[in-house]
Amino acid sequence: MIKVATVQKETLRHIPKVDRVLSWDLMAPLAASHQRPELLAAIRSVLDRLRSAVRNGDPVDFSEERVVSLVGAELDQRSTPSLREVVNASGVVIHTNLGRSPLAAAAEEAIHRASRGYSNLEFDLAAGERGTRYVHVEGLICELTGAEAALVVNNNAAAVILALSSLAQGRDVIVSRGELVEIGGSFRIPEVMLQSGAHLVEVGATNRTHPRDYRAAINDATALLLKVHTSNFAVVGFTAEVTVEEMSALGRETGVPVMVDAGSGCLIDLAPYGIAGESTIRRYLAAGADVVTFSGDKLLGGPQAGIIAGRRDLVAPMKRHPLLRALRMDKLSLAALEATLRLYRDERRAIREIPTLSMLTATPADLSRRADRILGMLRRRLPKTVTLAKQPGESSAGGGSLPLLRLPTSLIEVRIAGASVQQIEQGLRRTSIPVVGRIQRDRFLLDVRTILDHDLPGLALALGEAAASLSGGDQ
Ligand SMILES: *Cc1c(COP(=O)(O)O)cnc(C)c1O
Repeated sequence: MIKVATVQKETLRHIPKVDRVLSWDLMAPLAASHQRPELLAAIRSVLDRLRSAVRNGDPVDFSEERVVSLVGAELDQRSTPSLREVVNASGVVIHTNLGRSPLAAAAEEAIHRASRGYSNLEFDLAAGERGTRYVHVEGLICELTGAEAALVVNNNAAAVILALSSLAQGRDVIVSRGELVEIGGSFRIPEVMLQSGAHLVEVGATNRTHPRDYRAAINDATALLLKVHTSNFAVVGFTAEVTVEEMSALGRETGVPVMVDAGSGCLIDLAPYGIAGESTIRRYLAAGADVVTFSGDKLLGGPQAGIIAGRRDLVAPMKRHPLLRALRMDKLSLAALEATLRLYRDERRAIREIPTLSMLTATPADLSRRADRILGMLRRRLPKTVTLAKQPGESSAGGGSLPLLRLPTSLIEVRIAGASVQQIEQGLRRTSIPVVGRIQRDRFLLDVRTILDHDLPGLALALGEAAASLSGGDQ
C-alpha cells in the first residue's frame, strides 16, 4: 500500500500546472480561438480528471499532445448544449425519451410569437382587466370534444392528480384491477391515488371485471368510478372489460361520476387512416364519461400538456383548487397547444400538418418513395465505405399508445466497412447530430417513417462523420 501511494505521489508531481499548459506552443491555436476564462476552466477540468485517474491507479499519458487534445475536446463539449436535436430513425413515432411529439409549424410559430415579447396571457383585452390563461384553449377543447368545460395543466399525470384531489379527496375511487397501470416508472395509478388523498378500491380480476363488481363496491363513500386506458400493454385471451357506457349507466343510477384517464389524446377517428383501436375523446364523453383526462404530446401531437374535459360542475372545483397554481401550464406550451388544437378544426389539415399524425398515417407507398429519395440523397454524398440497402419492416406508435399496432414501413440498412453493427449504433449516437436507429437481427436499421424532412442534411452529415471515424482506423 505504502509503495503504491508513493508511486502515485511521484506521478502526481509530473502532471503539468495550468500556467505551464497555457505556455505550450501547441496550445496557441486553442488560446487564439477561445476566451481565457473558458480556456482556464477547460484546462483545470482536464488536469482534475488526470489527477483522479492517477489516484485510481490508471495509466495516464500527460504528454503535451495528449493534454492539448483533451483540452480541445473539453472546449468542444462545453460549447455544445446538453439538450440537442437528434434524428429519430427508430420508427417509434411517439418516443418519450426523444421528446414525444415534434410540433407542427403553426405551433412552432406560436411559441415564437409568445416568447419574443409580451402577450395577453392573463389579461382580458376586451374588459381591460385581469383574465386567466385557460380561456385561450377552453373553447377550442370544448368545440373539438363536445365537453361543457375544460382545463389544461402541465401534463396528464398532473391532470389526473388535480382531478382526483378535487373530486375524491378522502373518499373512495373504484378502479378495475386490470387497469392499475404503470406509465414509465414514475406514474402508477395506485401511487397517484395515494398522492391525491383518494382511497383506491380495486375491483374485479386482472383479466376480467364486470359491471356487478363496480356495483357491489359502491357505497356512501364512493366519489368516482375511474377507468384507466391500458396505454402500454394489452390484456388478451379470456378477458372482460366494463365499457364507459356501462360504467356511466351505473354512475347515473347511483349518482357517482365516471372519470376516464384516456392517456393518449385522440381527437379524430384514425380508423379510416388504418389505425384502429383508439377511441376519440368525443366518443368517451358521448358514451357518458363525466370527466376525461389526456396528454397533449402523445397522439394529439402537441406540446407537453394535460387536458381535462368534462362536466362544468366537475371542472369548476378544479379551476379553484390550490394545486392548480403548482400544476399550471407555461405560456410557451399553451401557445403551442392552442395552435395545434386549431389545426384540428380541419381534419385533413391536422393529418397533413401535425407531424405525429402524418408520420402515423403515412402509407407503405409513401414510405417506400421516401426511402428511395433518402437513399438517392445519401448515396450521392457518402463515401464507398458506407453501404445502404432498402428493406421492408414495421414501426410502432410508442409513447404508451396503441401497444399492439405494427405499421408496415421501409427501412434503410446501414453498413460501414470494418465496423460492427454495435459500433455503427454507438458511432451514430456520438456524431454532431446524433442519429438513433435500431438493431434488429444483427442489422443496423434506419426507419424512414420518423425521419423528418429537415433531418436529412443532419443525417447525411452524421453518416459521413461515423464513416470517417469508424473506417478511418481510429477505433
Ligand atoms: C401517458 C399516460 C399518463 C401520463 O401522461 P403524461 O402526459 O406523460 O403525464 C397517464 N395515464 C395514462 C393512461 C397514460 O397513457
